Amino acid sequence: MDPRTKPYQPGRHFLHIPGPTNVPDRVLRAMDRPTIDHRGPEFAALALECLDGIKAVFQLRAGHVFLFPGSGTGAWEAALVNTLSPGDRVLMFETGHFATLWRNLASKFGLQVDFVAGDWRHGVDPRIVEERLVADRAHEIKAVLCVHNETSTGVTSRIAEVRRAMDVAEHPALLMVDAVSSLGSIDYCQDEWRVDVTIAGSQKGLMLPPGLALTAVSEKAFTASRAARLPRGFWAWEEMSEANQAGYFPYTPATNLLYGLREAISMLVHEEGLDRVFRRHQRHADATRTAVRTWGLELVCAEPTEYSSSCTGAFLPEGFDEVRFRALVLDRFNLSLGAGLGKLRGKAFRIGHLGDLNDLMLCGALCGVEMGLAEFGVPCKGSGVQAAMDRLRQPV
Ligand code: PLP
Repeated sequence: MDPRTKPYQPGRHFLHIPGPTNVPDRVLRAMDRPTIDHRGPEFAALALECLDGIKAVFQLRAGHVFLFPGSGTGAWEAALVNTLSPGDRVLMFETGHFATLWRNLASKFGLQVDFVAGDWRHGVDPRIVEERLVADRAHEIKAVLCVHNETSTGVTSRIAEVRRAMDVAEHPALLMVDAVSSLGSIDYCQDEWRVDVTIAGSQKGLMLPPGLALTAVSEKAFTASRAARLPRGFWAWEEMSEANQAGYFPYTPATNLLYGLREAISMLVHEEGLDRVFRRHQRHADATRTAVRTWGLELVCAEPTEYSSSCTGAFLPEGFDEVRFRALVLDRFNLSLGAGLGKLRGKAFRIGHLGDLNDLMLCGALCGVEMGLAEFGVPCKGSGVQAAMDRLRQPV
């Protein structure tokens, strides 16, 4: 139906794509302020508070965080152009659609990508990381690039084990991790895992609108950026770092998003607390998987130790098109579900359960899926909603 002629749908829209996520009213209110002079003292105080406060979310004590106006794709680019030189070899893993897009971007910059093929149902295999790095005696591989939570499939790679594999191989490559759909939702420890560059965006676990591209950078990666030769302008860390010292930016920052970020940091770190945030996401993910299994659908993630706490991918049975299913659910129940991306288009849909979410919001979304499956004629074994409610009634 043409959205311009669609009648008004009363009630709240249910946004259950795996990002952008629901922006809490508190964050919306925090951003609803006049934009101030980004060269004045009030702005500097705001920026310094954000730059310092956000480190806790990355679980990073030393190092630098850069907050660019942009999206996750920009942060991917920032990570590459600041640390690497033309022709450098990098090791990447085909975990899904986003890993493939990042690979494509790396190739556009003339990097030589060793892209380990995958089935889009498993995460990065730490044994292959070790094998490839041990075989690289000349240390030609300059970086290992992994997507922590593959949003297109609902598979979370075991980054701690990837780091251990790199240590066993005694290889000096940088470790760069895309945490776009895990930061602020799934435990992510930049210091402990010695991640050199973390890539993130504002629109997922941070509960903000799209518009910020974040990179969190170790001292090792920051030092590497001084010698790296890929051309960079907008994304240059060094210029950003100089300006950030005093709370300023080399160009116009996303001022109102920083108001929102300050509020979101307070909610995640100081009020709910990261441990509770992670447990809440695990519980919602578990309830969602319980629902999917009870309906009789197959999870995209084939490895239980890699189940994602922020999104769940589920296959529809053969002959049922995910694109038409989501269109029906949107039209009938005002519920947005995640699309099947890349190789999964037409086959699997995704339920986003990250960001500002509680039990009843999740149940509402699962009700929409269950009613949608019935209307679409998908044979279901049982009530996933009832099974999810039973799970949610149990203690955490
Ligand atoms: N990486 C992951 C894991 C993502 O989920 C996305 C987007 O959903 C991106 C990168 C790209 O980010 P953006 O769309 O903000 O450019």
